[in-house]
Amino acid sequence: MSLVQRYQQVLSRIANAKSISHGSAHPVTLLAVSKTHSINKINELYQLGQRHFGENYLQEAEQKITELADLDIIWHYIGPIQSNKTRAIAQNFHWVQTIERFKIAQRLSKQRPQSLGPLNICIQINISNEPNKSGIEPQALNALAAEIAQLPNLTLRGLMCIPKNTDDQEQLTKQFCTMQELYNTLKLTYTTLDTLSMGMSGDLELAINQGSTMVRVGTDLFGQRITQ
Ligand SMILES: *Cc1c(COP(=O)(O)O)cnc(C)c1O
Repeated sequence: MSLVQRYQQVLSRIANAKSISHGSAHPVTLLAVSKTHSINKINELYQLGQRHFGENYLQEAEQKITELADLDIIWHYIGPIQSNKTRAIAQNFHWVQTIERFKIAQRLSKQRPQSLGPLNICIQINISNEPNKSGIEPQALNALAAEIAQLPNLTLRGLMCIPKNTDDQEQLTKQFCTMQELYNTLKLTYTTLDTLSMGMSGDLELAINQGSTMVRVGTDLFGQRITQ
């Protein structure tokens, strides 16, 4: 299948999921996860109208962002963050979806160039409660959100999760449902919240059904990643 066909297929899956989910009037944004995939493919998707792209590896991303600087792409950082990488992330990206520590958020705020406007932030939740997984426990959310909301050069936009890697639909639905509850509760306090980032190639329908506003799709758009 060509990239155009894959793109159309993913867009129609999103549209279908939206139409059958209960009362979801909100838009669902597609984040094209382009890690390991070429600049040409990103450019091709851009020409088809795609604007949001997600990258996990800073070095790879910096090269792509530099080469595609003429395009009005909105870049999302969705990989793990080491503190010595925050400056480059703050300078290159529009969004960071993998925030789990205040110290990192603080550095990003300090290092964000004023001219670029605030950096958009999602807090990552370890919704499957797996010991070695990134993200905070739900109980820690209120405290971290309150700290981040004080930082001048960040805007708290929402929550992000990667659920358990399983085909068990019931388990996935339960995790997405808990995310929606956390998100709706947090929204009562923070008016800047408009993003619930959940759902990937295999489970975007389930996620949209549980209120996702942003699905992050790699494999079903670009094909299998070349594993390093
Ligand atoms: C790689 C990645 C994705 C995309 O996953 P696919 O299963 O290839 O669609 C989504 N979110 C994050 C955080 C990722 O690292």
